[in-house]
Amino acid sequence: MDTFSHAFWGRGLFGYRGHPWLALFFGAAPDLFSFGILILVRLTTFQFPTEAPPIETIPWWVFVNYDISHSFVSAFTAIAIVSRFRKDLAFAMLGWPFHIVLDFPFHTREFFPSKIFWPLWDFTVDGISWGQPKVWLPNLAGLILLYSYRRGLWTMRKNDPI
Ligand SMILES: [Zn+2]
Repeated sequence: MDTFSHAFWGRGLFGYRGHPWLALFFGAAPDLFSFGILILVRLTTFQFPTEAPPIETIPWWVFVNYDISHSFVSAFTAIAIVSRFRKDLAFAMLGWPFHIVLDFPFHTREFFPSKIFWPLWDFTVDGISWGQPKVWLPNLAGLILLYSYRRGLWTMRKNDPI
């Protein structure tokens, strides 16, 4: 999924018990740790990417960072450590594994399939690209439903007639 959708899913699902900005950040974190660093590196060398770069021009370390950040093993290890000290922060971090849940079926093998059990197992699936309308539009609909729910659009107010 695109990084903005990931961020909004993180905040919508796990940012309602405090720490909304942390939840927003962790929703996007796996992409920031891989593609985000690449974009920063390219900006410092005055390259201004306007679209996804061809896969053969992407440096090797982006693939390593992607594998580390798109693995349930890394995500749940980090969350388990944090939850020993701060349960509230650990809850806001759950956007990280949810990011992996969304990327796993919605990346093809050609473009960054998610190795969800890395480094234990290199298992991947050849998914449907998130850029296709049949994936991205339901994603948008899901976000609209989630934020409508969070804003209380469906909750019954005290004086509402039944
Ligand atoms: Zn991702």
